[in-house]
Amino acid sequence: MTQPRRAVVIGAGFGGLALAIRLQAGGVATTLLEKRDRPGGRAYVYEDQGFVFDAGPTVITDPSALEELFALGGRRMADYVELLPVDPFYRLCWEDGSFFDYANDQEALDRQIHARNPADVAGYRRFLAYSRAVFEEGYIKLGVVPFLSFRDMLSAGPQLARLQAWKSVYGIVSRFIQDEQLRQAFSFHSLLVGGNPFATSSIYTLIHALERQWGVWFPRGGTGALVRGMARLFEDLGGRVELDADVARIEVEGERARAVRLADGRRFEAELVASNADVVHTYDALLGHHAAGARRAAALKRKRFSMSLFVLYFGLDTRHTQLRHHTVCFGQRYRGLIDEIFRGDRLADDFSLYLHAPCATDPSLAPPGCGSHYVLAPVPHLGHADIDWEVEGPRYRDRILDYLERFYMPGLRSQLVTSRFITPFDFRDTLNAHHGSAFSLEPVLTQSAWFRPHNRDADIPNLYLVGAGTHPGAGVPGVIGSAKATARLMLEEAAT
Ligand SMILES: Cc1cc2nc3c(=O)[nH]c(=O)nc-3n(C[C@H](O)[C@H](O)[C@H](O)COP(=O)(O)OP(=O)(O)OC[C@H]3O[C@@H](n4cnc5c(N)ncnc54)[C@H](O)[C@@H]3O)c2cc1C
Repeated sequence: MTQPRRAVVIGAGFGGLALAIRLQAGGVATTLLEKRDRPGGRAYVYEDQGFVFDAGPTVITDPSALEELFALGGRRMADYVELLPVDPFYRLCWEDGSFFDYANDQEALDRQIHARNPADVAGYRRFLAYSRAVFEEGYIKLGVVPFLSFRDMLSAGPQLARLQAWKSVYGIVSRFIQDEQLRQAFSFHSLLVGGNPFATSSIYTLIHALERQWGVWFPRGGTGALVRGMARLFEDLGGRVELDADVARIEVEGERARAVRLADGRRFEAELVASNADVVHTYDALLGHHAAGARRAAALKRKRFSMSLFVLYFGLDTRHTQLRHHTVCFGQRYRGLIDEIFRGDRLADDFSLYLHAPCATDPSLAPPGCGSHYVLAPVPHLGHADIDWEVEGPRYRDRILDYLERFYMPGLRSQLVTSRFITPFDFRDTLNAHHGSAFSLEPVLTQSAWFRPHNRDADIPNLYLVGAGTHPGAGVPGVIGSAKATARLMLEEAAT
């Protein structure tokens, strides 16, 4: 039998890059096709007047999963990119002026928890023990399992039942912790991967243990430096990256994917095809001509999708040294606001924000004495809220800048050197994300593991998926894990 040895990966997000590295390191000649002018996907980089803005992920966790990619190719990650520790992990702030420094320091945590509610010190320890148990089952054991059959799901059932996976993140946190602000502090994490803390499975509390276990990191030079390091590793291993390569169609003969055709007419033949592009886009736009693709696209469109984001990047002529690297700015409402973001049909009047101040860790991301920042607000996706972002975007930017100036960054308006923003329209039009969702399918239990689009297509067995829309889901560790699950299946096929 001939050995299939060529693969094409569509999309150079973290998932696509990690998969391409694994395939190339496994001896499969791999071509990575990316429609944009740089790799990274949601981890794109904007540069303006000496300011460097990472567009998306900034909280880098589980460095061992990244190191593993470099080791597979016989290299050392340190020769490609340096990870700097971030301390505290986050500063969590409320409008009443109080804050909580969430750090990997048990004594400091206990002290801050005690100051709010002494009973919660013991409660937090029980929560941490719970989250460690979930981490062990959900991340270490099941995170890189490709859930291809319902049997896989059934065999995970007893663990999921024991951990009460049907409960929500906030529900579980509330069992252990009484203080409302602490409940917010220990439940907001699922928002980082597109999960509503009031609806997402308590399995996602594992993020807390993951951060406590391996820390929070930031690449020197920004997340873009990590992307560049991974792309360089792939090319050093002999892989080929094609940028400005907008895939228009996956060609299928019978039940086999045969080639990938670009919008400009170029064609890439391959025995193995994987898509890191949005799952609805993959089935609808790239495979809609095939009955199985059209069927799957229609089914996927009926699913629930994560919220979108409004992200404002801005450079200042001043460094706000009072800011920590990562700040979460909670508004007055928590549950009410989150409900409106996930289900509402309009923009709420208030917001909860995440503020990125990377110069706190790496001042080289801005001209001397200046500061690069981004602030993001979760907003409803376009399937719920038919907002004209061409009109609303500039207004929303002004509201957010006013809010930041009032509560967190005095003088901000007069210090602005440059700014730009992206809206749900950019997620839809540039990243081809269904409804402009920032994190793909919402990570609720009924859309997780086997219930998520599988890493290998059931009808076209040499077609694979990788990235946020497949198991285990969004977030950098999630999509790096999905690449491991998908690569295992592809390398098995390549070896037959
Ligand atoms: C603002 C923001 C902040 C975030 N912060 C964090 C964080 O701090 N930590 C964390 O862990 N996670 C974070 N996330 C989530 C994380 O960034 C994503 O879940 C993850 O990066 C998604 O990776 P992916 O592999 O699914 O691919 P994506 O990044 O979605 O990349 C898919 C790629 O496919 C390309 N593509 C699409 N269609 C085509 C086509 N037809 N032809 C060719 N190419 C195509 C796209 O251009 C894109 O490059 C954040 C996300 C956002 C948006």
